[in-house]
Amino acid sequence: MDLKNKRVLVVGLGKSGISAALFLRGQGARVTVSDTRSAMALAKEIPALLEAGIMVESGGHGLLTFRRQDLIVVSPGVPMDTPEVKQVVGFGMTVIGELELASRYLQGRVVAITGSNGKTTTTTLVGKILGDAGLPTLVGGNIGLPVIDLVAKSAAETTSVLEVSSFQLETIEEFHPWIAVVLNITPDHLDRHGSFEAYAAAKARITENQGEDDFLVLNGEDKATQMVALKTKAQIYWFSGRRPIKQGAFVHGESILFVAREGAKAEPVMPVAEIPLKGAHNVENVLAAVCVARLAGVPAEKIRASVASFKAVEHRLEFVKSTKGVEFYNDSKATNVDAAMKAVASFEGGIHLILGGKDKDSDYSLMAELLKERVKAVYTIGSAAEKIERQLAGVVKMVSAETMQVAVTKAAAAAVSGDVVLLAPACSSFDQFENYEHRGQVFRQLVNELS
Ligand code: ADP
Repeated sequence: MDLKNKRVLVVGLGKSGISAALFLRGQGARVTVSDTRSAMALAKEIPALLEAGIMVESGGHGLLTFRRQDLIVVSPGVPMDTPEVKQVVGFGMTVIGELELASRYLQGRVVAITGSNGKTTTTTLVGKILGDAGLPTLVGGNIGLPVIDLVAKSAAETTSVLEVSSFQLETIEEFHPWIAVVLNITPDHLDRHGSFEAYAAAKARITENQGEDDFLVLNGEDKATQMVALKTKAQIYWFSGRRPIKQGAFVHGESILFVAREGAKAEPVMPVAEIPLKGAHNVENVLAAVCVARLAGVPAEKIRASVASFKAVEHRLEFVKSTKGVEFYNDSKATNVDAAMKAVASFEGGIHLILGGKDKDSDYSLMAELLKERVKAVYTIGSAAEKIERQLAGVVKMVSAETMQVAVTKAAAAAVSGDVVLLAPACSSFDQFENYEHRGQVFRQLVNELS
């Protein structure tokens, strides 16, 4: 794609939008960026853009800004039903996302990992396994560096391991990973995608341009993920924590096995007990990573050593401390009901669970049975508290805490030796915190200050 002197508009000035604008400018395009935030809110970002010769529109998108553009690049934070975007799509203008743009320039092979939960953990783990094995590996996308920032570092022999979200997949055209992974598809972001079907369809797009020489790694135990198999031309590798698989990775007894081809003998990869992460969901993440790593040619014994020395990514069932026999875990990244349930299911019982934050049109009643089984009390915080209390009324002891400070204090006071205090809020954080990282840091700090 020759961008010299092309007029390109970048909508949304998040991290990837800024990187995209600077990249496009570097390619000689005439770049405008547009964001709904005010010039004051963008005071940090604007100077570098102006200096690079990029035009900046702040405080909203003028429809005229969209006129006479050769290409429009929409950031993942900007909904596709933003009126101006919808209108230009309706007029047949080319609208793509940063992932699509970057993938047109990225050299080497691409591993793309999506799913409702587990993307960051699995992407980080795959990056580590390939890197430890000595393969030239880049990691980015929804974590760390935007994909466009990997372009300059990529070469024919690199493998780029990308975490990709449903929002990024909504704006692809030709994006074509060598290995695509769908970890799971459970309700999330329904406030933006509108329906579960639309959300699942966006995730399934990860395979739409794959061919017969490509690979698709799928969760054999997740119904919505299984549907993705209907959409692909790629060779499918399944993973399952529960039953043997004809081609892919699975748990058999105490071990993880991999079958390279249907009909081939299953090869042992590692004992499940050597996985240093908590929870059955993390075994699934490891199984997915095993498929990718074997397909990339990493021998089983190297995979075993890399997995065994992997550390939980911050805010993902992260152990904080143990005091008077009570363990404290920070799973602030459990921003939806499924992730919170996986966190609860990682402990036998005696759980004091902190739930709440900003609701995403979620159905908390799905948690009822599990909570009844394992949770001693729920401490609600944030703007979703009332809905959570209503949907889980009578299921389990409910304590209205409102703030994290009150929740931690009350949970710590109530917990006895052998119990667990778990932050797995099932909501986003934006009502009381800057983001989930901030929420997790506040939790950690409060826990560390407990006498
Ligand atoms: P993502 O990048 O998809 O948000 P993370 O690895 O950051 O995934 O994990 C997000 C949350 O989901 C965390 O609370 C984590 O404990 C939980 N989680 C991780 N892997 C899985 C999985 N395979 N299934 C369900 N929940 C998971």
